[in-house]
Amino acid sequence: MPYTPTLAWKPLDGAEEAQLVAAHAARMERYAAFLRIPSVSALPEHAADCRAAAEWLASELRRIGAQRVEVSETGGHPIVVAERIEDPALPTIVIYGHYDVQPGDPLDLWKTSPFEPIVRDGRMLGRGSADDKGQILIHLAALEAMLTVRGAAPVNVRYVFEGEEESSSVNLEAWMRAHPDRCTGDAVIISDSGFFDGNVPALTVGLRGITYLQVDVRASDVDLHSGSYGGSVINPANALADMIASLHDTQRRVTVPGFYDDVTPLSDKDRAAFAALPFDQVAYLAGIGANTLYGEEGYSSVERRGGRPTLDVNGIWGGFTGDGSKTIIPAHAHAKISCRLVTDQDPEKIYAAVEAALRAAAPAGLQVEVTNLGNGHAFLTPLGDPYLDAAAAALTATFGREPLYIREGGSIPIAALFQRELKLPVVLLGFTPPDDNAHAPNESMDLGNFEGGIRTVIRALDAIAALD
Ligand SMILES: [Zn+2]
Repeated sequence: MPYTPTLAWKPLDGAEEAQLVAAHAARMERYAAFLRIPSVSALPEHAADCRAAAEWLASELRRIGAQRVEVSETGGHPIVVAERIEDPALPTIVIYGHYDVQPGDPLDLWKTSPFEPIVRDGRMLGRGSADDKGQILIHLAALEAMLTVRGAAPVNVRYVFEGEEESSSVNLEAWMRAHPDRCTGDAVIISDSGFFDGNVPALTVGLRGITYLQVDVRASDVDLHSGSYGGSVINPANALADMIASLHDTQRRVTVPGFYDDVTPLSDKDRAAFAALPFDQVAYLAGIGANTLYGEEGYSSVERRGGRPTLDVNGIWGGFTGDGSKTIIPAHAHAKISCRLVTDQDPEKIYAAVEAALRAAAPAGLQVEVTNLGNGHAFLTPLGDPYLDAAAAALTATFGREPLYIREGGSIPIAALFQRELKLPVVLLGFTPPDDNAHAPNESMDLGNFEGGIRTVIRALDAIAALD
C-alpha cells in the first residue's frame, strides 16, 4: 500500500526505528485486517464481530510477546487484557483503548465501505481507523518494536482494551472492581483523543462532568381560559421562566447556593495554557452563525467552555405551541436543564443543589417535580504531573513542537472513571487528527499521526522509566 505521511515526525534514535520501518508493510496489513472486523458494540447482530475483534486483538498481543493475555468476560462484550511485567520495581502503566466502533451508516456518504479500509492521501480510511483501533495498534506496534529490539519494555505495562466504549462502557466499572490486579499501576494512559486544529500535538487535560435534570411544574388539572382565569391563578409557564431566570445573576454567574463551592479555581498556569490555545473569534462565530460571544464575566471564551461550570436549559415546553393563537393558561410546563461541571464538583451534590434552588424559586402552590436524568464526573490532569510531562516531552521530541493543553467542554466518562476508581494520574495521550470524522462517514487516521504516535509512545515509556 502507498504511504505518504502528511504530518512530519522525527524518527527514533534507537534501533527500534529500523524495526518499525522494516515492519511497516506488515503493520499496515494488520491495521486493515483489524478494521475489517465490524465490531459495532451497539448493534446486537454484531456481537459475534465484537468477540472476533477481541480474539484478533488477543492473538496479536500474544504474537508480540505480551503476557497474561486474556479475553475477559463482562456480561457484555469482552475486555481484552494483557500485560508485560518486566520488573516489579519499575513503574507500571495501565493503557486503555477500545476495539468497538460506531455503526457505519449512513453508508452512501462513505468513499469506501466503512469496513473495507483503504489508504488514500496518506490516511487510513475506515470505521475505527482513528477511534479507536488505530490508537490501540499504535501501542501494540510500540511494544512489538521494543520487545523485538531490546527484549524488554522500559516500564511495566498493562493493557485494558474494552469493547463497549461506544455503548457507554456499561460493564467497565464492575469489571475493574472485579479484576483489580489487571488494572493497578502508577498511572493510566488513555489513547482515545486527539490533536488540536491544524494537527498541533495536544494533551487533553480536562473534561467537564455533567448533571442533567428535568423539571415539571403543574398548577391545575386542565388548561384554563386566559381571559377568565389569567391574572388570578399561577401560570406554570411564567413561573417556570421565573424559576429558571433566577438561576443566573447579571454577571452570568450561577446563583444556585453552593454551586461553586468545590470548583478548583484556575491557576495562573491554567490560564496561561488556555491563553495559548489558538482561538479565532470570527471563525468560531461564523461556524455557528452567531453574532456575539456570551458568558460568565471575568473569563475568556476558551476558559468558559473548558474550565468553568455552566447551567443551561436544553429544552423548554408547555402550553399551546401550534400555529396561530390559543388563549390558555397552560396546566403544566417543563424544562430540561444540564450543568457542565469541573473538578471537584460532585454531580450528585450539584443536582441536589439545583433541585433545591428550583423548588425555592417556585411560587407557593405550584407543584414541582424534578428528576435526575444522568450524572458524570469531571476529569482533570493537573499541569505539572510528571506522567503528563513525560508524555509532553515525547510529543515534543516526535512532532517538533510542544503540545497544547486542552480542556474539552464535553466528556470522556472513562477518564473520570479511571481517575476515581484507580486513584491514579490519568494522561490522555491521543493521536487522532482533528479532522478524523470519528463517528461520521469517512472516518480516517492520518498516517503521520499513526506512525508518529508509535514513536511517541516509545519515547513516552522511556521518559516515564527515567522519572525519579
Ligand atoms: Zn473512542
